[in-house]
Amino acid sequence: MADRDALLGCLSELLQPDGFRDYGPNGLQLEGKREVRHLVSGVTASLALIDAAIADGADAILVHHGLFWRGMDGRLVGWLRQRVARLIAHDVNLLAYHLPLDAHAELGNNAQLGARLGLQADGRFGEPALGFIGPAASASLAALARDVQRTLGREPVVAAGDGRPLRRVAWCTGGAQGYFESAIAAGADAFLTGEISEPQAHLARETGVAFLACGHHAPERSGAPAVAAHVAQTLGLSHRFIDLDNPA
Ligand SMILES: [Zn+2]
Repeated sequence: MADRDALLGCLSELLQPDGFRDYGPNGLQLEGKREVRHLVSGVTASLALIDAAIADGADAILVHHGLFWRGMDGRLVGWLRQRVARLIAHDVNLLAYHLPLDAHAELGNNAQLGARLGLQADGRFGEPALGFIGPAASASLAALARDVQRTLGREPVVAAGDGRPLRRVAWCTGGAQGYFESAIAAGADAFLTGEISEPQAHLARETGVAFLACGHHAPERSGAPAVAAHVAQTLGLSHRFIDLDNPA
C-alpha cells in the first residue's frame, strides 16, 4: 500500500515530467482515494479501460493518453463527463504521462519498441528529442516490414523510398509523422512511427527514405505497463496491465 503522493513522487522521479512541454497535463489528472493498493495500467483512459480497471479493483489507473488535452473547450459533457463521473463515483485516481512515457530511455514506448524490434539506439533526434535512431537490424525494407508485422501483429502501411539497403533506422511511436524530416536529417534510411498523413508518402519518394506507419496503439502498449510495473514493485503495490484492442 502507498500514499497517492508517494506514488506520484516515484513517477515524477522516474519520468521527470517537468522537463516536457506537452499536449496535456502530466501526472495526476483526476484525484481519487489517498491510499493506493492496486494499480492498473493501460494505453488510453477510455470508458472501457476505466470500467475494466474498476472491475479489477483499481485504486489508481496509469495511462499514456489521459483525459485532458490542449485545445479542449473545458466542458464536462457527453463522453468526457461519463469517463470523469465513473472515476469519481469509484474514487479512482487517474494518472497520465504522455511524452515522458514515450521518452524514458529504458521503460518508455520508444525504448521498448526498439527492444522488441532488435534495434539499439545510439542517438536521439527531434524537438523535443523523442526520436530514437540506431543501426538497422533488418537488411531490407521488406524484412523490416515483416519484423514489424511479426512483433506488433499488424501489417504496416509502407511508403517505400528508393530501395536503398537499410543502414540506419529511426523510430518514434504515436502520431510522430511530423518527425519524418528530422529523422531524414539525422541520417535514417527508414523511419517508423504510428500514423501516416498525406505528405509523408511524397517525402518518402522524393528523399528516398522509407516511411512505415505501424499503428498508433500497438507500439504504445509497452511503456505504461513497464513504468507501472516498476513503480508497483518499488512501492509494494499490485499491478495489472489491461490491454484493449484498438484498430488504429
Ligand atoms: Zn500516443
